[in-house]
Amino acid sequence: MDSYQQLFLKSGKEKSLLRKHPWVFSGALQKEIKQIEEGSIVKITDSKGEYVATGYVQHGSIAVRILSFEDEIIDQEFWTKTIEKSWLFRQSLGFPNTKTNCFRLFHGEGDGVSGLIIDYYNGTAVIQCHTSGILAQLDNIVEALKLVLKKNLKAIYNKSKEAMHGAINGLENGLLFGTLEQDIVKENGFSFHVDWKNGQKTGFFLDQRDNRALLGRYAKGKDVLNTFSYTGGFSVYAMMNGANSIDSIDVSKNAIEVLNKNMLLNNESATNFESIAKDTFSFFKESEKEYDIVILDPPAFAKNIGAKHNALMGYKRLNIEGLKKVKKGGLLFTFSCSQVVDSLTFSQIIMSAAIESGREIKIIHRLTQGADHPVNIYHPEGEYLKGLVLMVN
Ligand code: SAH
Repeated sequence: MDSYQQLFLKSGKEKSLLRKHPWVFSGALQKEIKQIEEGSIVKITDSKGEYVATGYVQHGSIAVRILSFEDEIIDQEFWTKTIEKSWLFRQSLGFPNTKTNCFRLFHGEGDGVSGLIIDYYNGTAVIQCHTSGILAQLDNIVEALKLVLKKNLKAIYNKSKEAMHGAINGLENGLLFGTLEQDIVKENGFSFHVDWKNGQKTGFFLDQRDNRALLGRYAKGKDVLNTFSYTGGFSVYAMMNGANSIDSIDVSKNAIEVLNKNMLLNNESATNFESIAKDTFSFFKESEKEYDIVILDPPAFAKNIGAKHNALMGYKRLNIEGLKKVKKGGLLFTFSCSQVVDSLTFSQIIMSAAIESGREIKIIHRLTQGADHPVNIYHPEGEYLKGLVLMVN
């Protein structure tokens, strides 16, 4: 028997949990939970004490994040079973394979655990814990990865510090198992250096894989502008699919250095690309060049609901400026990865930018994250990446 503390829901507040939404807001609980240590495992019951779910405590508006809807103990066995399920699911999607050996192995709520991200890079698993509840389970998660991945696992790196926003004193990123050797991964047959230590997030934006492949289909003979390029995911696909020229813009010098390395890694004699460490808005002001294809993939402008209005204005302004750079008959690939901006709102913002441009514009593709970033249907907030491809006349 477990000794987990029981938390009672207010009467009538069990509906969203019965629909398997994995968050419990503090207002749904009968009592305040400030006295319970963050990360503690608790049992949620309905107002009469009937079991509903098991989760961990967080001090915030989301008071409990659910780990299981079955009355079970959260131990090594639980984590091994959970990680095994996610690994088998990726295998059923065809990962890893000879062309792609990097993918998201665990995607938070989409894999049933709020707060846990694991990206797999050719043998190196990079873990991002987003909550102290998941950090408290780290040893079990590491052990589960070793047990499940066996010889597919060479190293485990903890990259939780930035994701925890300094919430835990003394938390440092670092190696948890093995050695970091191979830093080159393959995606759809193209090669990329990944800098786990200094790179953003877990080192690479794996969610754009399918969208990069789509860009590749349109790139031949085209002049391409890739803004918010990071380490050049879209730039490499454009070049390797025969683009005439590729200009890449990112405010991070470090990202631009890795981008240049990635271009040459794929084609050591490439000369038809230019990479500029600069703010995209300044570049738009200073440059008069127009392109056949423009890519806008900014970081999340809104990290929470309070910042949503300003974020929407930011997306609108960015897309107005981006559209000005697209030649007649060209394409705009435009994205938002803000969780709080849903796809309908994103389409409306792009429409208002289009109206402002006064041009004839068609939506030709609606894009999202790859299948290795699944969305739990009971947690629609998990569909965070939205993209549109516009044909601009
Ligand atoms: N498209 C990329 C991922 C983009 S992530 C890929 O496929 O890998 C967002 C990037 O925007 C980051 O690299 C960040 O450094 C950059 N960035 C943030 N603010 C910026 C700004 N104002 N101008 C240019 N780049 C910016």
